[in-house]
Amino acid sequence: MLLNRAYAKINLTLDVLHRRDDGYHEVDMVMQSIDLSDLVWLDKRPSGEITLDSSSPGIPTDDRNLAVQAAKRFFEHTRTDAGVHIQLEKHIPVAAGLAGGSSDAAAVLRGLNELYETGLTLDELAHIGAQIGSDVPFCVYGGTAVARGRGERLTRIVHGCNLHVVLIHPRLFVSTADVYQGLVPSDFTDNPRSGDMVEKLQALQIDDIPSTVSNTLQRVTFRMYPELQALADKVAAVTHHPVHMSGSGPTLFCLAATAGQANRMYNALRGVMKDVYITRFVSGEGTSEPEEMKSV
Ligand code: ATP
Repeated sequence: MLLNRAYAKINLTLDVLHRRDDGYHEVDMVMQSIDLSDLVWLDKRPSGEITLDSSSPGIPTDDRNLAVQAAKRFFEHTRTDAGVHIQLEKHIPVAAGLAGGSSDAAAVLRGLNELYETGLTLDELAHIGAQIGSDVPFCVYGGTAVARGRGERLTRIVHGCNLHVVLIHPRLFVSTADVYQGLVPSDFTDNPRSGDMVEKLQALQIDDIPSTVSNTLQRVTFRMYPELQALADKVAAVTHHPVHMSGSGPTLFCLAATAGQANRMYNALRGVMKDVYITRFVSGEGTSEPEEMKSV
């Protein structure tokens, strides 16, 4: 039996460059792992057997689960004559813009590689992950990265900022596909803001980071769900801090430079809403520098 942690991510920037001929959108974003994690237990099973149990009743346990898809792809790729039972202890809110499913899939890939001693590099695991979902390669490495293409082309970023993140998860269902469909031409940009964010992270300009956070999808999701805009306004009024959205939403977050500041925000928010989490940045899972990822 092997235990792996699957960390959630937030987007520090997310720019959409254009709609591609293959139907995907070309994005440019800074992704950051945070220490809110699912626990992924893996137990060896005979060949061909892939089963999954989850603590969250709201997610599929069959082939639609990204963790099951990851196990299938892993066994196909490595031609390992084996199976696995996956036990998910979900802590990352589902369909929240925090890449919970992608992160579970990445944890399965890393975990099976260890359990069955198949010796794949993180790059190879990320390559398998890209066939499951655009966010899976980032989740294989974790830490901080600029993600381009569909989100699968990564440049790893090394920085020393260890910010606290106060997450607010509204009980609202937001469809990622609908949000991308809702983009209008004026939402696209040729000037992504990832470079500016990376500069501030690496220069440890902690006080300037909250005002550099940006997400094109935020205005789309807020247009579609005015109640989320209203909630963000309330969070800003309560915390006196800039409020941001992760991915296509609906999770909102505020950044704090110190634990004291994060605790004050958390306590103020807990007075008026449920589902508030206090987390912080985490660095990458990979112990070695990925070959195809450049440190900048
Ligand atoms: P992203 O930020 O990558 O768009 P998300 O955080 O918005 O992802 P997930 O929590 O990954 O969304 O869930 C999206 C959908 O995927 C859910 O509706 C769920 O049914 C399905 N799903 C498949 N596998 C999983 C999993 N292991 N955990 C959570 N959801 C999963």
